[in-house]
Amino acid sequence: MTDAADLAARVREGDLRLHELDDHADADTAAAARRLLVERETGATLDAVGDYGFPAERAESNIENMLGAVQVPMGVAGPVAIDGGAASGETYLPMATTEGALLASVNRGCSVLSDAGGANARVLKTGMTRAPVFRVEDVVEAEALVSWVRDNVGDLVDAAESTTSHGELLDVTPYVVGNSVYLRFRYDTKDAMGMNMATIATEAACDVVEAETDAELVALSGNLCTDKKPAAINAVEGRGRSVTADVTIPREVVEDRLHTTPGAVAELNTRKNLVGSAKAGSLGFNAHVANVVAAMFLATGQDEAQVVEGANAITTAEERDGDLYLSVSLASLEVGTVGGGTKLPTQAEALDVLGVRGGGDPAGSNADALAEYIAVGALAGELSLLSALASRHLSSAHAELGR
Ligand code: NAP
Repeated sequence: MTDAADLAARVREGDLRLHELDDHADADTAAAARRLLVERETGATLDAVGDYGFPAERAESNIENMLGAVQVPMGVAGPVAIDGGAASGETYLPMATTEGALLASVNRGCSVLSDAGGANARVLKTGMTRAPVFRVEDVVEAEALVSWVRDNVGDLVDAAESTTSHGELLDVTPYVVGNSVYLRFRYDTKDAMGMNMATIATEAACDVVEAETDAELVALSGNLCTDKKPAAINAVEGRGRSVTADVTIPREVVEDRLHTTPGAVAELNTRKNLVGSAKAGSLGFNAHVANVVAAMFLATGQDEAQVVEGANAITTAEERDGDLYLSVSLASLEVGTVGGGTKLPTQAEALDVLGVRGGGDPAGSNADALAEYIAVGALAGELSLLSALASRHLSSAHAELGR
């Protein structure tokens, strides 16, 4: 009997629990035992899931009850020329997806961006947030807490920053609803996406608030952060990186490469991305930014649930002196090049394609560059899809006019 089969039998007999297997075997053997159990109980065959290409122990801090790995195809779009605040040069964009035609579309956009001389990209605001909720007696006590926070922010900074050598507490913004007080802590987490870092630092600051005031902490996250839920506060105030990419594309390039006109793209953007999205009550005023965010998040080991915030983007387009000006602004792109899934072997290789694996010099510059690369990928995706829709519109208009 193999080690894995023996361990699987012990789980079936009730001697061990599924999550205890790692205490009795190395991570690969524990995963093999779980596959045997699940195969036997479900009738599924997990040969492909078990055929993963890295030692399971490399994923120990990323998953529990590991069976193996799901493989998502990865490709590249580009190269694309970028003039960024932290990123620059000609770059391939790694993307992982199961959506056929996505990379072809983004690739076409990248090629046109390069023909136009390249895209600009800048990170305009940085700040990962955590907003604990406190219970107070009434509005009098709420006002006292808010005043105390304003007068003692230095103590909160000292407590929060004692837990991290990279993180910096930027500000604390209070919100009051009846006898609930939310303190929205915002941090510069440098090259980390920063959700763990901000949570640990905020917990230390909350200890000070509870020791020095009458407020009682109800939860370390009071949902005003807001993590992994669609929320206007992120669209307005930003979260993670607020990043914009833009380009001006000469009229001839739009006509020759995209078979449409700057005016047609601008009109389509207004009616679809702005008016249509407003009528729908959407937070995202764009065509398909989530596609690029999700594909680059998967490739580079980002927290995939944060695609929710990453898709908080507005696309603008205008005809300017006959040329096409196009921009995309992602308000809350939460990215990191250290921590989380970024250290897994395939994801780390994808970060190497961009030249942003690990900590940057200065700290924070790698995560800024990653945000700019994703923004330019999103711009390429918007350009390609909007042009495809606009050119189809033009062809049908031409057909109607008998040309
Ligand atoms: P993390 O791996 O927990 O923390 C980042 C680590 O990298 C810190 O230990 C930091 O050290 C270190 N570090 C080294 N060089 C750095 C540099 N140049 N810049 C910044 N940090 C550097 O990662 P995280 O980004 O804070 O959190 C990401 C994880 O949180 C993901 O796995 C995600 O799925 C998970 N997550 C957690 C929550 C939550 O509520 N806790 C919510 C959503 C997601 P120092 O701190 O000592 O500086």
